[in-house]
Amino acid sequence: MTAAIAIILSALAMTLIVGIRYLISSGAFALATRAVRPGLYTGLDKQIRREIAWSLASAAIYGIPAGVVAWGWQNRGWTLIYSDLHAFPLWYLPLSVLLYLVAHDTWFYWTHRWMHRPAPFRLAHAVHHASRPPTAWAAMAFHPIEALTGAIVIPALVFVIPVHVGALAFVLGIMTLMGVTNHMGWEIFPRFLWRGPLGAWLITASHHQRHHAEYRCNYGLYFRFWDRLCGTDRGIGGFADGEDRRRVVAGRAAARGSTRHQPGRQP
Ligand SMILES: [Zn+2]
Ligand SMILES: [Zn+2]
Repeated sequence: MTAAIAIILSALAMTLIVGIRYLISSGAFALATRAVRPGLYTGLDKQIRREIAWSLASAAIYGIPAGVVAWGWQNRGWTLIYSDLHAFPLWYLPLSVLLYLVAHDTWFYWTHRWMHRPAPFRLAHAVHHASRPPTAWAAMAFHPIEALTGAIVIPALVFVIPVHVGALAFVLGIMTLMGVTNHMGWEIFPRFLWRGPLGAWLITASHHQRHHAEYRCNYGLYFRFWDRLCGTDRGIGGFADGEDRRRVVAGRAAARGSTRHQPGRQP
């Protein structure tokens, strides 16, 4: 088999993997949404079909550079990906994960801010913001230009920062998980994580939802560091508060209903 055919097959395989990973992860969290927040996506069928179509197109854009680099790693010794666990000290494993997340977050923050300038917004980023409010299916709903800016990050980083193949898989897992859950419309993480001191630095759904609601704030991907440093952080969004309010109101109504019976009325 010539190298060209092998590269094409590798790119196709990666496109399939990214596409199927998207369908499984977004599908699973959409199902979870239906169970946990029934009706949250009601009336959004048309938007969801759009989100899926753009996301599957993005799968090819993510899959091609990943496939080429994976081929080079396997056949030409490209990249600094290592598979011998002891090639680097063990403490480097978590450090490498953090380095990848910080590097990706930095790239994302600045390209994302750039894409909010009028011309690139109209040309590309408007596709992502057409999700109002976003759903679990919006994880990869990007215009091809925006998908390309995201697709080159990890394939470029593996030439710069050494990483164990397992740590790299972990980074890709976090990328998928946060991409889906940040758009889901509700918090899957425990309250202490996003309300507590950690939440002041980590981005979860309540933070990114505010970006989709207000546009010119909360640009980050994983960490609030750049947003806070550059004064673009407006804190976590209203859906969490709205959710809490609804729960409080429902709780009060239930308490009233159990202590006081009002004839002719539903408690
Ligand atoms: Zn988004
Ligand atoms: Zn944006």
